[in-house]
Amino acid sequence: MADALPSECLMFDRGVKAVRSRGSNAEIEFENGDREVFDLVIGADGIDSRAREAVDGGESPPKYSGIRIVFGCTPAGSTARAASEMNIAHQWFADGAYMLVFTGGGEGAQNKQHNIALCVQDKTKRDENTAWRAKAAAKEEAVALMREKGMPQSAIDVAEACDRFFDVGVHYHDVLDSWSDDAGTISLVGDACHAMPPFLGQGANQAMQDALCIASELSKVGAEYDTVKQALRAYEGIRKPPTAAIMQSSRFIGALETGAGPVSLFRDVAFFMAGTLGITGKVFLSGALPRFEGKA
Ligand SMILES: Cc1cc2nc3c(=O)[nH]c(=O)nc-3n(C[C@H](O)[C@H](O)[C@H](O)COP(=O)(O)OP(=O)(O)OC[C@H]3O[C@@H](n4cnc5c(N)ncnc54)[C@H](O)[C@@H]3O)c2cc1C
Repeated sequence: MADALPSECLMFDRGVKAVRSRGSNAEIEFENGDREVFDLVIGADGIDSRAREAVDGGESPPKYSGIRIVFGCTPAGSTARAASEMNIAHQWFADGAYMLVFTGGGEGAQNKQHNIALCVQDKTKRDENTAWRAKAAAKEEAVALMREKGMPQSAIDVAEACDRFFDVGVHYHDVLDSWSDDAGTISLVGDACHAMPPFLGQGANQAMQDALCIASELSKVGAEYDTVKQALRAYEGIRKPPTAAIMQSSRFIGALETGAGPVSLFRDVAFFMAGTLGITGKVFLSGALPRFEGKA
């Protein structure tokens, strides 16, 4: 992709400090103090987006979901999971917790890497950790939590074999009223626009669909649309309904999966029924189906 662009199109190591609408165009102020003016700025700068602040005036910052995820990864070649399990993801549910054990990596057992993701309700405000800084102390905490929650020994064994841990406080956005500024010079894609809890595995998928959709609609300016603003409205009209629905359902699924007390009992029965009737697969597939074509 990079090779397909003129070399001056890609710039690296230029942190964005602020994005501002200037009526007929938008200005980016970089962290080094430089300022540049653009016809259109599309913010793909993640959950703490600077471009989003220019669109909503800083009115809708990310919110903490009350769920913390501790990730652990083994070194490649670890034998913490049996070869027969490497193509299977295991999930376990407990009172106020949910966990996943899965294997990734390249071809061959020597390249396989096992992972745990322990999701627990935790009302203390947890850092988003968007930079994915490793946290060695999380290992002891994760193993203790897994024991406390009654997770199986096979999962604890994988956690014990992990040598890198990451502690993430799950954050999300509320649905944004408008995805672009009034003038149509700043718009948003991906987490900048609609960060969602990861419980349907849809954040990156939706970001890619946004990118394809906005590019497609902008390519119609001069044909179907007279102005960029009209194209941005069409993009929002196509992408807002499906992403808003997934934002709500991923919050609901996260709360249900990590539910405590009576919620966990309800969850166990509901998930058993939903799995047996094939509903779980449909919910996950429905979120994953591409929805970026058609005109608003
Ligand atoms: C624990 C967890 C598990 C997840 N699991 C899944 C999953 O299974 N499937 C899935 O589809 N999604 C998953 N997601 C969500 C997925 O990671 C995000 O939705 C996706 O990365 C969003 O892509 P993006 O390009 O919009 O933003 P990001 O990936 O956040 O990229 C933003 C980019 O902008 C840069 N940036 C930010 N601010 C500035 C600035 N001021 N100046 C310059 N550059 C800046 C950042 O460095 C980064 O490169 C998960 C998320 C989490 C937290």
